[in-house]
Amino acid sequence: MSVEPDPVRHDWTRDEVAAIFALPLPDLVFRAQVLHRRHFDPAQVQRSTLLSIKTGGCPEDCAYCPQSAHYDTGVDAAKLMDRAAVAAEAARAKAAGATRFCMGAAWREPKERDLDAVCAMVESVKRLGLETCATLGMLAPAQALRLKAAGLDFYNHNLDTSPEFYGRIITTRVYGDRLETLAHVRAAGIKLCCGGIVGMGESRADRAGLVHTLATLPVHPESVPINLLVRVEGTPLGDAAPLDGIEFVRTIAAARITMPRSVVRLSAGREAMTDELQALCFLAGANSIFCGPRLLTTPNPEAARDAALFDRLGLKPFAR
Ligand code: SF4
Repeated sequence: MSVEPDPVRHDWTRDEVAAIFALPLPDLVFRAQVLHRRHFDPAQVQRSTLLSIKTGGCPEDCAYCPQSAHYDTGVDAAKLMDRAAVAAEAARAKAAGATRFCMGAAWREPKERDLDAVCAMVESVKRLGLETCATLGMLAPAQALRLKAAGLDFYNHNLDTSPEFYGRIITTRVYGDRLETLAHVRAAGIKLCCGGIVGMGESRADRAGLVHTLATLPVHPESVPINLLVRVEGTPLGDAAPLDGIEFVRTIAAARITMPRSVVRLSAGREAMTDELQALCFLAGANSIFCGPRLLTTPNPEAARDAALFDRLGLKPFAR
């Protein structure tokens, strides 16, 4: 079977991506493995820790999100954390093996005074020798430049789903807003962390549409998180039908094949996955996870379970 040649392509057609999704699973995984091994050590998995630095009360209406002020999910809104507390959490994450520390704030976009505080946090985390990442909502060009100057390495801004399905999930902004922020982040010289969520009731064509949009960006995101919906009671997707695990694996493989140099993160939803399903995701080209007991407001596997999983599968953390 032929595999995609280097250099990395940015001209994928939607039909090509749909055809990748439809491959027999052994062919799909083989193709993903060949490309994965060309660019990475397949036994190495990058580990990031995500901290909610400002929780809840978000004015956006993302149908999957327990932090939206539009839904009653029992998440209490909290103010922005202070710099010392964030630095202490980052030091703990580093001691537990994380190489990247991501700071998430439930905002539509940061206000100027909030950005001052986040820049100070970025400086503190950077001084610990960790890679820094933030997810703060939409950014203006000048805000992206300020974060870059503070030492921000990555900015997370997910596209969530296909352009066609987006309006079924979020009504308080449009797909173009997301693409605009991605362009501002790139223009500032910050690396991109950008992926989506599957299991929200979208079709396979929508999952292919998400991967197609990511894979045809002018520069692929360095980090591509693929999240499996964590169904939270009180959100409109609280009782969404679960996605077939194999379909999740197909999404990971399609991301790996179309963006072979990107780190593909097996992101939210691991808590509910078996070791066997996670193993299939690693075989399909995932090479990053979030570690730490929480992902913003939802649970994540405990360190001991992840250590046992790595041991069972013979995986090792990315070399620092
Ligand atoms: S996903 Fe982000 S932008 Fe959307 S409601 Fe949650 S915190 Fe707000």
